[in-house]
This record gives sequence, structure tokens and C-alpha cells, in this order.
Amino acid sequence: MTSARNGTINVIDSHSVHKITSGQVVIDLQTAVKELVENSLDAGATNIEVRFKDYGLKSIEVVDNGSGIAPEDYDGVALKHHTSKLSSFEDLSTVTTFGFRGEALSSLCALSESVTVTTATASEAPMGTILEMDRNGRVKNRNGRTARQRGTTVTVTGLFKPLPVRRKELERNAKREFGKALNLLSAYALVPCVKENKGVRLTASNQPEGGRKTIQLRTDGTPSTKASVSALWGPKSLEHLTDLDLCFSVETEKSVLQRRAAPDGGDSGVQVRVRGLISKFSVSCGRAATDRQFFYINGRPCNPSKVQKAFNEVYRSFNATQSPFVVADFILPTNTCDINVSPDKRTIFLHSENNLIEALKREIEEAFLPHRSTFDVNTSG
Ligand code: ADP
Ligand code: MG
Repeated sequence: MTSARNGTINVIDSHSVHKITSGQVVIDLQTAVKELVENSLDAGATNIEVRFKDYGLKSIEVVDNGSGIAPEDYDGVALKHHTSKLSSFEDLSTVTTFGFRGEALSSLCALSESVTVTTATASEAPMGTILEMDRNGRVKNRNGRTARQRGTTVTVTGLFKPLPVRRKELERNAKREFGKALNLLSAYALVPCVKENKGVRLTASNQPEGGRKTIQLRTDGTPSTKASVSALWGPKSLEHLTDLDLCFSVETEKSVLQRRAAPDGGDSGVQVRVRGLISKFSVSCGRAATDRQFFYINGRPCNPSKVQKAFNEVYRSFNATQSPFVVADFILPTNTCDINVSPDKRTIFLHSENNLIEALKREIEEAFLPHRSTFDVNTSG
């Protein structure tokens, strides 16, 4: 074993540190795409096109009609911890943008063959500037000019080439990884209300090596989850779904203590609202897969595994043959959740999580109890 006493503790050179930490921010193809699309949404884009070449192995390009990047910000755009969205730790509890750490572009620069940003603000359009970045996120060439309406295009080629093991994994599982990236794009397409109720037109295409470009997914920008479901999986899929709208309060340690002290008054806990869509219990389309389950906290897509488990458990007590399609956005006070838990921001820490899960299970059960008898009749007949 090595220790400080025999002098084997060394400092890792800064370039390696950058690669190591970047590898935690951009884990796979899906997180690379997520970071780029989130930047477009943060820039207020209403039209976002994601172009994959060879399932993302060759390149990923995200084109948006957002604010564009102002010339005075070019230098900081892909430098680590440079962000236009947060300036102090105090802002973190109220942050409403997807990004806030200024790590994504810098990480993509460290982990890819090349990153190019083409951008124009309203005052530069219809001409845009092409910024070629180096591995450290510095602009190595800013002399390129091209016709460009307001917005930004980020092109990433050769993802993970600087990390040979991860690159091999990506190549081996290219189609599966691509599928996961499309699934994640669906998650963003389903919450059109993320930004001031503005609909976002989202398109994803792929051009396989030597093949033709095909559209993989497209929404029309109507600001409604139902419209997006219909665009993604066809209008018929809506027939099997019903609205989800739950409202309940969750006990916290503070509310329990306060109620003990003053039974008639005090804190009634945290108010939670859950909105979205869920499969009807009577549906039996034979789908046991859980790949169409989308969860959000205050409009931010995330993977709350205990919440997912709660939905599946209750649902299966009504309909044992399948898992439900679920879109569920949890609307919570921002001071009851911490989004800064994991580098990819997909894990969110929830205050009083166990109490929330218990209350959620009761609520789903109650909301759907009237359907139990209908389902029993349907299946026995
Ligand atoms: P973060 O999103 O956490 O700020 P990023 O590394 O993802 O960090 O982006 C760095 C900065 O680059 C952003 O704060 C933003 O100012 C700018 N930026 C990145 N992508 C875009 C885009 N598509 N449109 C406008 N600005 C962008
Ligand atoms: Mg970002």
C-alpha cells in the first residue's frame, strides 16, 4: 500500500485532472446530448435540431434558434466553471436553468476529437462566427464566418476518442447508446412547459455511415405533453392514457414537531403536486418494459428510482401484466430538493424522501381505486 510517509503521493497534472473530472460530467452519448440540448433550452430556443452522424459515433450536432453567444463571451464559453447562469453558491437553491456549473462544454472539449461552436446573436445575424475549441476549452480559431440566423450550433466529433476504453464501449454498443439518447430526447420533448409554457420543436435525425439521413423523432412545438406524446408515438397512444394530477402534503421532521407542539396549527408539511399522464389500468398492451417512464422535478428530467418503483408497485397491484407508461412532473418548493448531487444532475436529493414515497403511493392508489372494479370486470369477461 502506498502512503504519504514513503513519499508516493503525487500531484496529477492538470490536463489529466481535467480529463478525469470531465469523464464524470459526460458519462455516455446520452449525457453529451443532454448537456447540449439543455444549453439550447437555457438559451430560450424554440426550435432544436439534433443531428447524429453514424449514431453519434462520428458526430453530434445541436442546432438551435436561441439567444446566441455574444462576442465578449467567446473566450469563456468552454472554460471550466465559466457560466452565464450562476454567480454564487447562494443562487443554487433557486436556479431555474438546466445548467449552472459551466462544465459541459469544457468536458466535451476534453473528451472529443473536436468541438466547434457556430453562433450569432440578434445583432450579428445573418452572419455568424465559427469558434474552434481546443482540448482545454480555449478558442483556437475564431476567424471563420458563415451565414447564420440568430442561434447556436455546437458540433462535437469523435466523442470519447481521448478515452480509448470508453470509446470502444461506445462503438460496441452504438445502437443501444443511440436508443438511450433518443429516449432522453423524448423526455425533454414531453415537458414543453419547462420554459414559460413555451413549446419547443425538437427534431432528431441520424445519418448512418454511407447511408441517407432519416428523421428519428419530431415534435411540432405545441406546448402540451399530450401533443408531444401524439407526435412521438402516434395519436392512438393517447387512447390508453389518462391524466395524472395529484396534490398532497408530505410530513417533514419540522412539521411533525410543530404539530406535536400545537396540534391545531403549525406547519402542515411540504405541498407536492404531480402532473402528467399515466396508462389506464385496464390497458393490456403486453408491455412490461419501463422504458416509457419519464420523471421530472420542477420540469427537470431526472431518475428518481424510488419514485419510479412506487409507481410500478402500485400499478402492478391493479394490473399485474404490465408496467405503466408514465409522465410525472413533481412540482415542489425549490428548497426541498437539491439538484447538485451528481455531476450529470440526473440524481436529485429530496427532502423527506421516504415520507414523500409513502404519501405518493397512497395518493396513486386512491386516485385509481374507482377503476379497480372496472378492471376486474374487463379481465374476467
Ligand atoms: P452551463 O450550462 O452550466 O453554464 P456549459 O458548459 O454547458 O455550462 O455552457 C457554458 C456557457 O456557454 C453557458 O453558460 C452559456 O452562456 C454558453 N452556451 C452554451 N451553449 C449555448 C447555446 N446553445 N446558446 C447560447 N449560449 C450557450
Ligand atoms: Mg450547460
